[in-house]
Amino acid sequence: MTDTPLTCNLLSCRKKLGLEACVTSCSHIFCSQHTSALKDKKKPVCLACGTQLNNELDVVCVDLNPNEQYKTMILTGLTPDQIMEIATRAIGFYVYQLNYNCLNKEALLRGTKEQMDDLKQYCTALTSKFKTDLLKEQRKAANIKQELEDKIKEIEAQQQQLAQWKRANKKLQMQVESQKREIVNLKISPINKTPEQLQKPMFSNNNFGNYFSNPFESNSINNTEAPPSFPLFGRFSH
Ligand SMILES: [Zn+2]
Ligand SMILES: [Zn+2]
Repeated sequence: MTDTPLTCNLLSCRKKLGLEACVTSCSHIFCSQHTSALKDKKKPVCLACGTQLNNELDVVCVDLNPNEQYKTMILTGLTPDQIMEIATRAIGFYVYQLNYNCLNKEALLRGTKEQMDDLKQYCTALTSKFKTDLLKEQRKAANIKQELEDKIKEIEAQQQQLAQWKRANKKLQMQVESQKREIVNLKISPINKTPEQLQKPMFSNNNFGNYFSNPFESNSINNTEAPPSFPLFGRFSH
């Protein structure tokens, strides 16, 4: 590589020039990789500006790092005016290339800035959309949370009611058990019964028997005696 700041004029390349390059009469220069694209064609066209390069000296390959002998011999024998003219043209080419590079970099910079502006607009629109979506989702989440809290309150109320029912049921079962025990005691302790109770069976046709007999039998249907009160949830009176 040389210390030249010049780069290949092919926009898709822009590689820094090495030891060899190809110069065109339309003031463009290309790296060695793209030299063949100019020299191997029968009707070469400049890769930068499209100018037809038909003459023999329209495309010239140059050594960008000439040795001392070349420097000594290349302009030897020419008059100072010719030497100055050649040098002036060469310097003009060099200045043009520097400007060309500057213009390309400015164009590149403009393109990058436009891309950045587009990207910024896209990001702004995206952020705005995300904010709107986020607000919607937050509102949805708040509604779901409220519904959840209402359900929890409802379940807690139902649990409290269930607990009350369980307590009432337990109390009822205890009362039933107590009644059963009293009935059993009445059956096995005739001493505690009155003479009338001793004469009557526990479940004769005159009391519970009517309620467990066949309702289609005539004596059951015609029996209009009121049923005895059975203190399921109270205690027997002795
Ligand atoms: Zn190139
Ligand atoms: Zn050109």
